[in-house]
Amino acid sequence: MKVLSVNAGSSSLKFKMFEMPEEKVLVSGLFERIGIAGSCYTIKLNGEKITKEAVLNDHKDAVRILTLELINNHVIDSLDEIKAVGHRMVHGGDVYSSSVVITEDVKRKVRELIPLAPLHNPANLVGIEAFEQEIPSCVNVGVFDTAFHQTISEEAYLYSVPYSWYKDYGVRKYGFHGTSHQYVSWQMNKILGRSDTKLITCHIGNGGSISAILNGKCIDTSMGFTPNAGIMMGSRCGDIDASMLGYVMDKTGLSMKEVDNILNKESGLLGISGVSSDSRDIEKGIKEGNERCLLAQKMYVRRVIDYIAKYYVLLGGADAIIFTAGVGENSIEFRKQVLEGLKVLGVEIDLEANNTRGVLTKITTDDSKIACYVIPTDEELMIATETYKLV
Ligand code: ADP
Repeated sequence: MKVLSVNAGSSSLKFKMFEMPEEKVLVSGLFERIGIAGSCYTIKLNGEKITKEAVLNDHKDAVRILTLELINNHVIDSLDEIKAVGHRMVHGGDVYSSSVVITEDVKRKVRELIPLAPLHNPANLVGIEAFEQEIPSCVNVGVFDTAFHQTISEEAYLYSVPYSWYKDYGVRKYGFHGTSHQYVSWQMNKILGRSDTKLITCHIGNGGSISAILNGKCIDTSMGFTPNAGIMMGSRCGDIDASMLGYVMDKTGLSMKEVDNILNKESGLLGISGVSSDSRDIEKGIKEGNERCLLAQKMYVRRVIDYIAKYYVLLGGADAIIFTAGVGENSIEFRKQVLEGLKVLGVEIDLEANNTRGVLTKITTDDSKIACYVIPTDEELMIATETYKLV
């Protein structure tokens, strides 16, 4: 069965088509600058990458061109062959603890959750509606970033603020990157050959989050009510003292909105280094002797170690620690520093094995008390798998 995995943003649409259950990638690509001048799309097929300019007034234009390209390139003979489309959905609130077939009722609930994800949920809905209109015969499935974290207990997801904020306004930890944490934890359990495991999954990309997973179920995660919680990130601050905001607003005259923007876009590695949010630039800066890059990296690593230590205690130990996403998969130096900071837990890094990027690798020695792995994430495959299962 051919299954499309889709991630619709406000001005973009990323897709990957799989033959399921074989998990074979048939074609992938990205539509960019939808509704903006200079729109274009890229398609990767048979190892070749084609980029074309096109008028993309809305997501429907993107889906229409996508279907034409699939037919013209003989990936499919007719639209009926696309049986199902899985959509990455950012926020399912506490309504969805697993993936669902999209119905009018689901769309209404996702719309009601827009205040919790004002940028993402509307874009996800636009993506669904474009497929509903352009390929009416296909079944649409929603795979929520928050769903995997719905097993977190009340004592872990509540903030110590007035309980009425939770009851009246839904203020609580939701967590994000759930599809990725779920995917790498499944892969890890496959490698270990059992599911009664204690895992700490570290999704460290431009955004980053860490989860504690007990017997396949998430029991805590570092992101919170919004993605700007937990570890330090590329440009997000992560955990901070909330009462500093009033002080900074008084001092600077900035509005709450402006401060929030700084906390999301001008903090983290970028805010401390003053150089970049990209860890490659930070590592380059360190080599060139930039002290602020060195400080940013030290803070970045420290916060990851803090969360791993916290989840080690919560889980009562750990069978494995997994690194994934852009930094987790690719930064040899970052992983080395984190694992060296975990020596007290009996973690023994295998320096030679760690000298790798983007491939599944065990990066600790056989006598390490906790096995650490790099497992490349594949959210698209996870979405296709969930979709195939439901359809
Ligand atoms: P996003 O959160 O946007 O999905 P990604 O998971 O794609 O982010 O991660 C992107 C980040 O990965 C980059 O900003 C960069 O910091 C990091 N990265 C990618 N390649 C490398 C590398 N070779 N060395 C260090 N960091 C890398």
